[in-house]
Amino acid sequence: MFNNYDFSGKKILIAEDERTNYLFLEALLKRTNAILIWAETGKTALEAVQKDSAIDLVLMDIKMPEMNGYEATHEIKKIRPQLPIIAQTAYALAGEKEKILSAGCDDYLSKPIMGKILLEKIDNYLNKK
Ligand SMILES: [Mg+2]
Repeated sequence: MFNNYDFSGKKILIAEDERTNYLFLEALLKRTNAILIWAETGKTALEAVQKDSAIDLVLMDIKMPEMNGYEATHEIKKIRPQLPIIAQTAYALAGEKEKILSAGCDDYLSKPIMGKILLEKIDNYLNKK
């Protein structure tokens, strides 16, 4: 089963402008006991990292208002270079993966997000420390 991960005490920042997408991630991660923070723009995601040094991982949507996921990742990595950032993108364009990784993201997932793969990736980064 993929729903038996335990992320108790881990703080995950979810940068996602679409409420339905956030609710999907929340439902998926609720069972892991992770502490979730929701940022609806790249700018608020950056502000959350500036304010809270206890964030353990970021799920970063790429297409967001105010500041997109590339810019937000770039700025977050200036403050917290070791903070794992997993991008989520709906784009299936050639070169997208390279663009995401060169912005500083550690990993990426294509939408629609597969729950099993997302949890495996998160577990991999949270337990690497
Ligand atoms: Mg979006």
